[in-house]
Amino acid sequence: SSFADFALPKPLLETLRRTGIESPFPIQTATLPDALAGRDVLGRAQTGSGKTLAFGLALLTRLHQARQRDGRPGKRSPRGLVLVPTRELAMQVSEALQPLGKAAGLHCATIVGGMSFQRQSLALERGADLVIATPGRLADHTRQGTCSLSEVAFVTLDEADQMADMGFLPQVTEILRMTPSDGQRMLFSASLDGEVATLVRDHLSNPREHSV
Ligand code: AMP
Repeated sequence: SSFADFALPKPLLETLRRTGIESPFPIQTATLPDALAGRDVLGRAQTGSGKTLAFGLALLTRLHQARQRDGRPGKRSPRGLVLVPTRELAMQVSEALQPLGKAAGLHCATIVGGMSFQRQSLALERGADLVIATPGRLADHTRQGTCSLSEVAFVTLDEADQMADMGFLPQVTEILRMTPSDGQRMLFSASLDGEVATLVRDHLSNPREHSV
């Protein structure tokens, strides 16, 4: 199969082609149709499976569609959010999604600990469509009033089991409660039991589950 089989915006398809990514990996074939249809998605997948593009292409497509629909002049409050357990993973996800987002006219901001809070505030102030964040630093920004999550319609929790193991679920839950409850949510994790199962039960709505 080919990425052209999915209803992805042209700039995304062109950027994929230019970077030599042609055929979707199984996790992408499995989750993209549900994600693009607006369903909540539960993906059981490991690092290396291609899950970043599975949720990234879905998020960027939904954000692109939202912008096309309303034009959104003026300040951009984030509409998309990716939460990950570590700064390193946030950087990897940003590196994978920034070029695609840029091609589609979308602004991404990376919000992680250990980096300048002030610079992150400025990036948010200038306007970001998609925020890629670790939970602790993002919760700090919401408390300081430098990041509003009230318009976040698309959320992905990546490596949810690792976020649970690292004790981040209180912040993850705090953050999810600040986003509209009727938004679309996707959760990716190597395992879906224990605290992750609780997170799914409380914050996803009738999710479609896919394992690879
Ligand atoms: P991930 O599991 O998201 O960390 O992705 C693992 C690696 O696979 C990354 O280097 C991606 O760039 C690459 N990748 C993801 N999807 C595809 C694809 N459909 N075709 C070729 N490479 C891909």
